[in-house]
Amino acid sequence: MEQDNTDTKTVTENPLKWDKKKCKFCNLCIELCPQKGLSFEDGNLKLTKKCLKCKICEKYCPDRGIEIVK
Ligand code: SF4
Ligand code: SF4
Repeated sequence: MEQDNTDTKTVTENPLKWDKKKCKFCNLCIELCPQKGLSFEDGNLKLTKKCLKCKICEKYCPDRGIEIVK
């Protein structure tokens, strides 16, 4: 899988799978994440804090661009 969507320096566990082709950069996931742990960096969605796996981002992404894996 070709994905480089996390900062491995700050996040040890990366459950975020983000599909750039589906994403319309609406920022909804960033606004809804209770951890405030999502942000765009260089056009890629990055996880910068520990993910709670609440799946809010996955559920509310209008374009189904996010998957939270176990
Ligand atoms: S699953 Fe929850 S905590 Fe993890 S990135 Fe998505 S909204 Fe944030
Ligand atoms: S909610 Fe979905 S479409 Fe919107 S910025 Fe996040 S990943 Fe992209």
